[in-house]
Amino acid sequence: MSASLTCSEPAVRRTGFHMGGPWEIIAHGPPARVRRAIDAALHEINRIESLLSRFRGDSEISRINHGIGPREMPVDPEVGRVIAKALRYAERTGGAFDPTAGALSRLWGFGPDGPRSAPPNAEEIGAALGRVGYRHLLVDEEGSRLTIGRHGIELDLGAMGKGYAVDRAVAVLKLHGIERGWVSCGSSGYGLGAPMGQAGWRIAIRDPRRPDRLIETVQICDQAVSTSGAYEQFFVYNGKQHGHICDPRTGYPAAGPASVTVIAATATQADILSTAACVMGVEEGLGFLQSESGVEACFAEEHRGDISIQITPGWSEASQSGFGRRRFLAGMLAALGLLVLKPFPAGGAVYMTAEEALRQILPEGREFIRETVTLTNEQKAWISELLGKQIKETAYTFYRGTGSDPAVTIGHAVVLNVIGKERPITFMIGISPQARIIGLEVLVYRESQGSEIRSKRFMKQFIGKTVEAPLKLGRDIDGISGATLSSRSTAYAVKKALALTQVVYGISEENDS
Ligand code: ADP
Ligand code: MG
Repeated sequence: MSASLTCSEPAVRRTGFHMGGPWEIIAHGPPARVRRAIDAALHEINRIESLLSRFRGDSEISRINHGIGPREMPVDPEVGRVIAKALRYAERTGGAFDPTAGALSRLWGFGPDGPRSAPPNAEEIGAALGRVGYRHLLVDEEGSRLTIGRHGIELDLGAMGKGYAVDRAVAVLKLHGIERGWVSCGSSGYGLGAPMGQAGWRIAIRDPRRPDRLIETVQICDQAVSTSGAYEQFFVYNGKQHGHICDPRTGYPAAGPASVTVIAATATQADILSTAACVMGVEEGLGFLQSESGVEACFAEEHRGDISIQITPGWSEASQSGFGRRRFLAGMLAALGLLVLKPFPAGGAVYMTAEEALRQILPEGREFIRETVTLTNEQKAWISELLGKQIKETAYTFYRGTGSDPAVTIGHAVVLNVIGKERPITFMIGISPQARIIGLEVLVYRESQGSEIRSKRFMKQFIGKTVEAPLKLGRDIDGISGATLSSRSTAYAVKKALALTQVVYGISEENDS
C-alpha cells in the first residue's frame, strides 16, 4: 500500500524493513522536525515489535507463550491492553479473529517454526484446534495480569500487531507536531490529515492476483486502511493454495475472498477487521462490517482469473469517483504499471493517477477517451526509424482529450514505461494536435534515486519540443545532476511519445498554424 505524494510543503519519505515487512513513512513539515519525528516513530515501531513479535524469542508475547499449562501471570500492561482489545474483537467477530490462533498458524507453517511442504493431517489439525480459543484467555482491568485457562494456548497477534504499530507510530509523529503524514507497514496504513491542498491521502489497492494491477484507489484523511488476503503468504500443495489466514472455527486456511480491504478509524481496527473478514467470507463479512460504525470495506473475489469487487454502501465515497469510477479504473489499470498494496518497491513512489496527470496536462479537456493501440509492423518500422532505435512493445495506451465539441481533439496523452537505471519509470506525456510536447508528468517512480526529474525546472525544458527538433541531453536539454539516468530516460520517453503519437494519429508539425 502506498500513498501518492504531491506536496507543496516539504515532505520526507523514509522506507525500511520492520516486523517482517516493508514500511513507509511520509511526514510533512520543517525538515529538521520531520526527521526527528520519523526517527522517533521508527524507534516506536521497533519497540512494539520487541513486545509483540512471536518471531522474537525475547518478546513479551514469546515470554507468555513460553509456558504451557493453565496459569495466571503478570504481563506488561501495554501488552495486556492490546490483548484485551484483541479479545473484544474476537468476541465481536464470533471468533473469526482469534488471538489464540497461534497453534494453528504454526501448524500450517506460518509460525516461528517456518514453512512446511505439505499440509498437516486431520489428526494434527484436531490437536491444534484443541489449543485454540479466546474464551480461555482473560486479562484484568489494568491489563497487568493474564489468565490462561487452557493447556497449550499460543498467542499470535500477527493479524493486528502491525496495525497497532502503525497507530503508535502516528501517535509519535503527532507528539512531534506533525499534522500531515502517512505511515504504512505494507498491509495497513494510516493517513494523518491530508497533503496540503488535498482532501486526503490516495491509496492504491493492488489486484490480489496480478500485482502489476490495481483494483481501487481510495482517499483517506485521519483514517486507516488495511488489506488482508491469502495471496501474500501461502504455500501450494497438489495445486491447492494454502494461505496464512486460518479459520479458527475449522482449523483450515480461510477459503475466503482473494482480498479484503477495510477502512476504519485506527489501523489496529482495520488490521483486525480485514483479517476477520477474510475468515468470514464475502456474505457474512459484508453484513458484519456494515454493522461496524465508521467502517467501509471492499471485497475482491476471483472467478476464473477475473476479479470482481463487492463493497459496503459507503465505500464509494472513499473511493476515487468523479471520473466515472469504472472508466477511470479501466484507464488506471492500463496506465499504472505497478500498484501497490503490499510491498512497495524500494525507494519507489506513486506520484499521480492517470486522471490527475490528464487534468494537469490537458486542463481544458472535457472528456478523455482512452485508446489502447496495437501497432502494425509498418507503424513499428516507421517509429523505429524516427527514433533511430528498434522498439519492442506493440501495445500502447493513449488518451485523446476532447473540447466542448466532442469531435474536436485538443490534445493527446500517452502513458509510457521507460527503464531508468533498474526499474521502469511511468510517464504520461501530453502532445498537441500540432505534434508538440504540452506537458509531462511522472506517474510512478520506482528507482531508488533520481526522482528530482519531477522538478518543474527540468520538466519545463521539454515543452514545445517536436520529433524533428533534436532532443539531446546535455545539448538541448540540461539533465539533473544526481539523476543522470532518469534524465536520459525522460528525454527518451519524450522522443518516443512524439514518434508514437505522430505515427498513430497521423499528426505532424506541418499542421502548425
Ligand atoms: P498481514 O500480516 O499480511 O497484514 P493479516 O493481518 O491478515 O496479514 O494477519 C495474518 C496473520 O495473523 C497470520 O500470519 C497469523 O499469524 C495470524 N492469524 C491467522 N489467522 C488468524 C485468525 N483467524 N485470527 C487471528 N490471527 C490470525
Ligand atoms: Mg490483519
